[in-house]
Amino acid sequence: MRRKLAAGNWKMNGTRASLSEMAAMEGIAGDATDVLICPPATLIREAASAAKGVSIGGQDCHAEASGAHTGDLSAAMLADAGASHVILGHSERRADHDEHNEHVRAKCRAAWEAGLVAVVCVGETLDQREAQNTLDIIGGQLAGSIPDGATGLNLVVAYEPVWSIGTGKVPTVDQIGDVHDFMRARLERRFGAGVGRSVRLLYGGSVKASNAAEIFAVSNVDGALVGGASLKAADFVPIIEALN
Ligand code: PGA
Repeated sequence: MRRKLAAGNWKMNGTRASLSEMAAMEGIAGDATDVLICPPATLIREAASAAKGVSIGGQDCHAEASGAHTGDLSAAMLADAGASHVILGHSERRADHDEHNEHVRAKCRAAWEAGLVAVVCVGETLDQREAQNTLDIIGGQLAGSIPDGATGLNLVVAYEPVWSIGTGKVPTVDQIGDVHDFMRARLERRFGAGVGRSVRLLYGGSVKASNAAEIFAVSNVDGALVGGASLKAADFVPIIEALN
């Protein structure tokens, strides 16, 4: 059985004062549920030393281990600061930093090299959905962004429709189920049934306490990658509880 995962993506939000919110998210997860918080990189070290029973992740890493890349962070640096996971290929990075599948793939390799679990994000834009290209886009992103060598322990995949992120618009449960079933089938085909069945698949995009239970009941949804509603314990704790 796959463990459930409630992952919070704080994006460019949070200062040291926010760590008290994280403290209030601890101890909520049930026996088969994991909690991951991905704060800004400035907070990783302090969050990781304070966290009890919550994993800490980065939001991006460079594809190379070190070198002349001003402002960037390597996967090894994130690991050294106490991160166990890293989000890769988030649509905001794909849009703001012109990241394409091949960049995400190289970053994923670097993350694995440093011993991090990669949380690889995929998702279609509204135009792509309306043109009925959703599954083609997702299939291409999965094939292009995930290197060979994936396992249920080093990879998590998050389906995040771009049009749903931060908008309050959520796909129907049937739409979520169609994409998650498709992703499961693709992972099984490429990596074999054992690995394909063991990779956790998260839904992300406007998840909140009021819609979490309905989304978590969808087949092949193993948890959520939550943005806005992961910043405050009052919003995130009920989402964790809905997974338990
Ligand atoms: P949201 O963001 O929950 O604020 O929609 C999700 C994400 O971008 O990971």
